[in-house]
Amino acid sequence: MSDQRLPVQIAPFKLARQGRLLQGSIELTRMERLAQALTETNGSVSVSLQFGIDEQGIHCATGHLNAEVQMTCQRCMKPMSVPVVTDVALGFVSSYEQGRNLSRDYEPCIVEHEPVNLAEIVEDELILALPIVALHEEQGCEPVIETLQKAASEIEQSDVKPNPFAVLSELKRKK
Ligand SMILES: [Zn+2]
Repeated sequence: MSDQRLPVQIAPFKLARQGRLLQGSIELTRMERLAQALTETNGSVSVSLQFGIDEQGIHCATGHLNAEVQMTCQRCMKPMSVPVVTDVALGFVSSYEQGRNLSRDYEPCIVEHEPVNLAEIVEDELILALPIVALHEEQGCEPVIETLQKAASEIEQSDVKPNPFAVLSELKRKK
């Protein structure tokens, strides 16, 4: 894919009329809301969006997003890399009301005033595409509880002093 610089601001209706293709990448550091779900914000998302007007007269953009993000594995609580690949089908509308009447083929994107921030639109789509819970494959991923239990049993093994209550119960049993 070509890695041209994407514009920061776009005019979706104009791009749709022109039938433009936007391809390039956006740094994840520019997405503060997304960052809250991630352990790191290095890396970028590659974007490919074809703008156009469909046969119903809807101004739209279809394509896909592709990113590799860092999240916390909820089993072992260690960072892990999560691939996020998602198809996008946006229908541009100028009001909430129009969005409600939009064809189900599209996700409404309300544009009250052009231009709009492209990174924000891409960020919304990425947030929707993130897994709710990130988990490693079972292999090589040790649940936190097991790690704690293992650490606890290691401490127990290194502790050679007898438990005074255990001694007491031994004495009782001998009676
Ligand atoms: Zn894990």
